[in-house]
Amino acid sequence: MRALTFQAPGEVVVRDVPEPELVDAEDAIVRVESSGVCGSDLHIYHGRVWIEPGFVLGHELVGTVLAVGDGVHGVTVGDRVLSCFHSACGRCFYCMRCDYHRCVHGRTFGHGAAMGNLPGAQAERVLVPNADMTLRVVPPGMPDEIALFAGDVMGTGYHAIASAGVRPGDCVAVLGLGPVGLCAVQAARAAGAGEVLAVDSVAERLAMARTFGATALHLEDDDVKEAVRGATGGRGADVVVEAVGNPKALEQALFLVRPAGRVSVVGVYAERCELHMGLAWIKGVTIHTGLANVIGHVDRVLAMLSAGRLDPGPLVTHHMPLDDAPEAYAIFDRREALKIILKP
Ligand code: NAD
Ligand code: ZN
Repeated sequence: MRALTFQAPGEVVVRDVPEPELVDAEDAIVRVESSGVCGSDLHIYHGRVWIEPGFVLGHELVGTVLAVGDGVHGVTVGDRVLSCFHSACGRCFYCMRCDYHRCVHGRTFGHGAAMGNLPGAQAERVLVPNADMTLRVVPPGMPDEIALFAGDVMGTGYHAIASAGVRPGDCVAVLGLGPVGLCAVQAARAAGAGEVLAVDSVAERLAMARTFGATALHLEDDDVKEAVRGATGGRGADVVVEAVGNPKALEQALFLVRPAGRVSVVGVYAERCELHMGLAWIKGVTIHTGLANVIGHVDRVLAMLSAGRLDPGPLVTHHMPLDDAPEAYAIFDRREALKIILKP
């Protein structure tokens, strides 16, 4: 079958790879009908997150179940399903505490051996471990490109807001307006936030945040700190979401948050990074970070998508054939697209 593989930083290639096969009784095989390109794929593309050359990329998918093992009961052959970006066993210490993102058997699609050695979803077909935990049936009438968001991007935006405990009336600042940050803007509004301040330097992304009801602030051209102060009586934001994965944004989050506020870091980090701990300490800031617990949120997120309370539809700017995936990565890397949907 055809799949997009990582070769070297800046080089991804569509080529023939082995067909996935059922290994475990809880596995499913899914025919991929839509797959997303994500900011997390860019970290691999840039060589910042290292994976083995030849590994199949991608972790966002909607498709049809082709085969299931004897131990799968929640989905059946022929079901239209969406997948979470990682699997979880449902039985380990962490799963028993609903921390599915830390499952000891968890495997992340398209992230190499270090993240569970699970080939990715930018492919014609994909193996899904622990299918009952990892997959959900797409609600009737929901388009592929909306359902796709539940298993990663909207799940992560929702996680950023939920893990920081955003309460009605809170002032929320979102740093980084890629698909994840824009979904966090929507989730903040849906959680009843007061003012939402949205920061980036890409004009189209700022404009999109504005249409979602946020106050858009240009990273360099606007005085972001002054704007946050102005919105909060000089205190700082109740919650700051770091949806970039860059130490500069993390540092800015610590400056923008109010004393006893919360910083939610969903941007990916793979390396050591310097943090102004004195500032965090004196302010008494709570920092949440890590993989998003999308399995813990997926049913809630699907319900909100079904009801139109969250609507990532405007984020889908491109549909491209899987064969054009290298071009899709280049376009997304130049920030000329928001969500690109690949069609195998
Ligand atoms: P993206 O690359 O499309 O978006 C990042 C945005 O940040 C860009 O628009 C860029 O212009 C902006 N930016 C760069 N530096 C900035 C700064 N200093 N201040 C403000 N904005 C800045 O990526 P995305 O798909 O939206 O993903 C965002 C981050 O979330 C990535 O790091 C991705 O890996 C991560 N992610 C994490 C999880 C998780 O489980 N925690 C899940 C999905 C994505
Ligand atoms: Zn993703």
